[in-house]
Amino acid sequence: MKVADSRYIFVTGGVTSSLGKGILASSLAKLLQSRGYAVALQKLDPYINVDPGTLNPYEHGECYVTEDGAETDLDLGHYERFLNIPTSQANNVTTGKIYQSVISKERRGDYLGKTVQIIPHITDEIKRRIKILGSKGKYDIVITEIGGTVGDIESLPYVEAVRQLKWEMGSRALVIHLTLVPYLSATGELKTKPTQHSVKQLLENGVQPDVLVLRTEHHIDEQIRAKVALFTNVSIDAVVQSVDVPSIYEVPLKMLEEKLDVTVLRKLDLPVREPADLEDWKGFLHRLKNPEHAVEIALVGKYVELHDAYKSISEALVHAGAANNARVTVRWIHSESLTEANVEKKLRSAGGILVAPGFGHRGIKGKILAARFARENNIPYFGICLGMQIAVIEFARHVLHLEEADSTEINPGTPHPVIDLMEQQKEVTDFGGTMRLGAYECRLISRKSKVFEAYNKLTISERHRHRFEFNNAYLPQFEKAGMKAVGINPDTDLVEIVEIPAHKWFVGVQFHPEYRSTVLNPHPLFVSFIRSVLA
Ligand code: GLN
Repeated sequence: MKVADSRYIFVTGGVTSSLGKGILASSLAKLLQSRGYAVALQKLDPYINVDPGTLNPYEHGECYVTEDGAETDLDLGHYERFLNIPTSQANNVTTGKIYQSVISKERRGDYLGKTVQIIPHITDEIKRRIKILGSKGKYDIVITEIGGTVGDIESLPYVEAVRQLKWEMGSRALVIHLTLVPYLSATGELKTKPTQHSVKQLLENGVQPDVLVLRTEHHIDEQIRAKVALFTNVSIDAVVQSVDVPSIYEVPLKMLEEKLDVTVLRKLDLPVREPADLEDWKGFLHRLKNPEHAVEIALVGKYVELHDAYKSISEALVHAGAANNARVTVRWIHSESLTEANVEKKLRSAGGILVAPGFGHRGIKGKILAARFARENNIPYFGICLGMQIAVIEFARHVLHLEEADSTEINPGTPHPVIDLMEQQKEVTDFGGTMRLGAYECRLISRKSKVFEAYNKLTISERHRHRFEFNNAYLPQFEKAGMKAVGINPDTDLVEIVEIPAHKWFVGVQFHPEYRSTVLNPHPLFVSFIRSVLA
């Protein structure tokens, strides 16, 4: 049954950032989906960058890439992992995008001599982007997460757009405000004052929250709920606690216990249908919490002090671990810390080695050492994007004896450019949105490869984000010496996957399989990688 008029839920955050608005929004969406509603999730980011593609991971964590090639916020990764449906360009809006379209309309003369202002022009464009998802008739409920914290100057136009939409839509829209209830260990008390202040801040902007989710380390009792309800004009059954849990994947079940979905549906005048079964989800959680095996994967990258930079990879490892009944522990290894003298000590006991994606020359040496160590010691190796290019460079140098073989990204003057700039990239001058982005088809050319065993089909589709590629001029030499191209782009002949068949499991992929791994569909390559480590 379709809902005649789409409903809109806005998720705002107060008190502090990093409370997990993305996980909360995804968990609620999961529950509503399990009750038969078609749900879309959207993130509004208040920064002025047009997209996070140009942002350093230290600033913003991982850049997540959608099927249609948008470089987006990492929360979209959570949306896909929880809902098991792909997102697109429309699911991530930034202030940069809003201003870009308003300014180009102004240049075209669309505003006919009017003064262009934040209200109504910027807020109208925000509202248009919010309504786009609902207007297609595809979704019953659109959940929009407002990035940042209420009170930030940058968020003001978004909160104003939410105020206007609530006014226009009445009971078809509601606001969930996520705050923190800190615990003071000195007095053994949970404190609600920051939440009260945060709601006041929202009220100053004309927005009355309908539901409050209180993030807390300890159980929140009825008395505290009643107090919060009294100070914020929110009904007590709509004051919900979100107690810290060991895994983000437990949050939907916690929110189910709190009846967050029921409260939301009632407020939106939608029927509370029987929950479809969450059996698959519970099965995953059961395997996650009761593993029979344990494996350790060394993840070699240059942003390892910031785990968010590799969010989709670490989540894909969690999914693949559960699929193999194994607990996967990631040993984070800073590529710049690896040297010839310590590589053995640092990597010897790892079950498998994963070399992460990346850009630029920093940390390349350590990554090459890691690839060599894995290849020479028959340790399962998974190279993703730059990690695949590293495996190729290492093989060229130490097996083909092409001294100084390199990627032209790292050494433009190398005598052996085994990884080189793609033809289409040679004319590119802008940085933003100009890489090879989004989903491309790839043909697996051998039924004997490890990758074919994993996917069990000949044509696959995976998402890309890179400028450089395997240089086909060297392919015959590589194949003769034992590194095979086992996945090829059917239209361009670009090498998308290399493999060393004689090795226990040595696979390099030019694409990013991690973006497609979800709780209910763990990625076949990650599953196969973990299985090979267990074997
Ligand atoms: N820097 C490499 C390229 O542009 C790899 C990119 C990546 O790992 N995502 O080709």
